[in-house]
Amino acid sequence: MFLLFIILLMYDQWLYKWFNCSIKNMYLIKTPGWLKRIYNNCIWEINTKEKIVYLSFDDGPHPIATPFVLNELRKYNAKATFFCIGKNVKANSEIYKSIITEGHAVGNHTQNHLNGWKTNDKVYLDDIAEAKKYIDSNLFRPPYGRISMFQLRQLKGAKYNLKPVMWSVLSGDFDIDITPAQCAENVLLNSKSGSIVVFHDSEKAFNNLRYALPKVLEYFSKEGYKFEKIML
Ligand SMILES: [Zn+2]
Repeated sequence: MFLLFIILLMYDQWLYKWFNCSIKNMYLIKTPGWLKRIYNNCIWEINTKEKIVYLSFDDGPHPIATPFVLNELRKYNAKATFFCIGKNVKANSEIYKSIITEGHAVGNHTQNHLNGWKTNDKVYLDDIAEAKKYIDSNLFRPPYGRISMFQLRQLKGAKYNLKPVMWSVLSGDFDIDITPAQCAENVLLNSKSGSIVVFHDSEKAFNNLRYALPKVLEYFSKEGYKFEKIML
């Protein structure tokens, strides 16, 4: 027992690093029920009996990825929701305008893509208020899905009046260790009526996105699904 204790002491930092690193690289493709129940004050999917999938795109607007997405959506008369970063809207305002003129929804994704768990509450909330100046929407998605209960309550209050939208299917397009085909499969195998699917119109995700998005649009269209924007 004593020996085990000594070994644990010797290796605890190593264990911690390994654990921390595994957690960082780990993400869930399909949001589990228990997580939805803990954060039951967020929208995780849309309750519908119709064949509708809700595609969403985070982190744009981006000069290459966003026009690509808009063009693919147009081919299928698909509508989607873009959770934009305020500073990217400022830098790519024409692309932001085209998202709206093409009939899609936009949402607030903070001004500087802050992690709610690691950021002081005031700094976090001020950053969202700053993004509100550029993004006219009542929808909000926390970067990395990380937000505290306190921050959530503030955002839902009258001052911010934002509705937190999470997701039920994560494409994993941001993961450079998966193939574009795996990324497409993540969405094809896990989505159903009412699913909210996350992609990213960003530099990092583009290699997976440009393969997976056309596959997803084609497959679900053939199956008789429509793609709609989130309206709450
Ligand atoms: Zn993000």
